[in-house]
Amino acid sequence: MSPSLLFPCYLALALVPIGMAWMLGYSTRPFWDELSSAIALTGFAILLVEFVLSGRFRVISGRMGIDATMRFHQLMARPLILLLVVHPFLYTPPFGSSSLWDASSLGLQGWTFASGLAAWILLAVVVVTAIFRDRLPYRYEGWRVSHGIGAGLIALFGLHHALESGRYSGHPAFIVLWLVMVGLALSTLAMVYVVRPLLQLRHPYRVASNRQIALKTWELVLEPTRGRALAFDAGQFAWLTLDRSPFAIREHPFSICSAPGETGRLAFAIKQAGDFTNRIGEVAIGAPAYLDGPHGGLVLTGQVSRGIVFIAGGVGAAPILSMLRQLSAAGDPRPMKFLYGNRVQEQVIYPDELKAMGDILDLDVVHVLSEPPSGWTGEVGQLDAALVQRHCPRDEQGDWLYVICGPTPMIDSVEDALTANGVPGRQIISEKFSYF
Ligand SMILES: Cc1cc2nc3c(=O)[nH]c(=O)nc-3n(C[C@H](O)[C@H](O)[C@H](O)COP(=O)(O)OP(=O)(O)OC[C@H]3O[C@@H](n4cnc5c(N)ncnc54)[C@H](O)[C@@H]3O)c2cc1C
Repeated sequence: MSPSLLFPCYLALALVPIGMAWMLGYSTRPFWDELSSAIALTGFAILLVEFVLSGRFRVISGRMGIDATMRFHQLMARPLILLLVVHPFLYTPPFGSSSLWDASSLGLQGWTFASGLAAWILLAVVVVTAIFRDRLPYRYEGWRVSHGIGAGLIALFGLHHALESGRYSGHPAFIVLWLVMVGLALSTLAMVYVVRPLLQLRHPYRVASNRQIALKTWELVLEPTRGRALAFDAGQFAWLTLDRSPFAIREHPFSICSAPGETGRLAFAIKQAGDFTNRIGEVAIGAPAYLDGPHGGLVLTGQVSRGIVFIAGGVGAAPILSMLRQLSAAGDPRPMKFLYGNRVQEQVIYPDELKAMGDILDLDVVHVLSEPPSGWTGEVGQLDAALVQRHCPRDEQGDWLYVICGPTPMIDSVEDALTANGVPGRQIISEKFSYF
């Protein structure tokens, strides 16, 4: 789905309950009561659509990329929390005259009040722990599981609260709507945590080789234990589970750096960055592996251009290697440039192969180092606006395709530089190696 289509679709789904409530033709109550109901209905619908965004559905994230899809998921959590946190305070009278928690003034009793309160508190916990995830004292995987369970519980408590206390949600049409929406939301969790692992079990892989290719960077090659390796477009990635069951929820996304169909094997360039990747060099040949993929929209398929500029920071070069390998195999005649930034020279992956590609492709590789060795004659510094503008003159490359991959700050600054240089957004495709 294209980003320009996602927001209208999302908005339409979020507004379905209000449209339904309006069609039911109930007599209107005081303004604040109606506003509060509208806010609650919309907030609950947004909450349920949020599940679908994190379900790894290619129809949604295929074109816009998983990074942009997850950022949209995070963005929509803001109105969601605002709507659901505010809604109880708007009913008249706000909370009765005696105390803030005198819910009986709203007609809420016992379990109805408890389920609403539980959903309300859990929502705050889930959102706050997502915002401060990197500062939590437990691992990414722990946070991911708690986020999924928390969201599932909020949906169930919210459903109970809506059906029992909602003026509109008690109507049979609404009961059906909420049951279907909650069912779909929870089935996206089942899809990620049950169905996909089951599918992965049917296509196991084993580690065929594992070697260090650059400073703190390893090349892991997988081969299917039976059948064929997954088909993918150059530039795509897969969630990789190594040495444990696909149900273990210890999977990490990595771009495939080999070219599609190269040898029936899949190669990944993996940089040490945390608890899982720091031990990648210890993974033994023959270790079992599982892949959920391919995913991602950083692909050349469907893109028409006179030339291509690739821009990568660090191990962001992995998907670009896959593309260059495929373009080399096809003998693509178009002019290409690769601006490749690293801190030190030892971090450059596949330097000899990149050099050799210059004999096959019309490719100019520009290495940029922020800490160059003595005698370095190449570019020095960061992949910043000045460097991008110097190497991508508008009159020569204004109509080329720009493919960018790497850390978020680098991509943001390069995209800003290109936009300032007059390159239209449709000529820029990018993938961030982080959702945050
Ligand atoms: C689309 C995509 C493609 C990527 N391709 C590559 C690649 O080709 N080579 C490479 O070296 N790195 C790649 N990465 C980054 C890689 O996934 C992380 O470096 C790795 O998951 C870190 O795991 P860790 O346990 O070692 O570190 P941790 O310390 O656990 O995590 C460091 C950070 O990595 C991210 N992360 C960790 N686990 C996950 C997960 N399961 N899902 C999403 N993000 C996670 C989180 O932002 C976390 O804060 C890619 C990331 C994305 C999103």
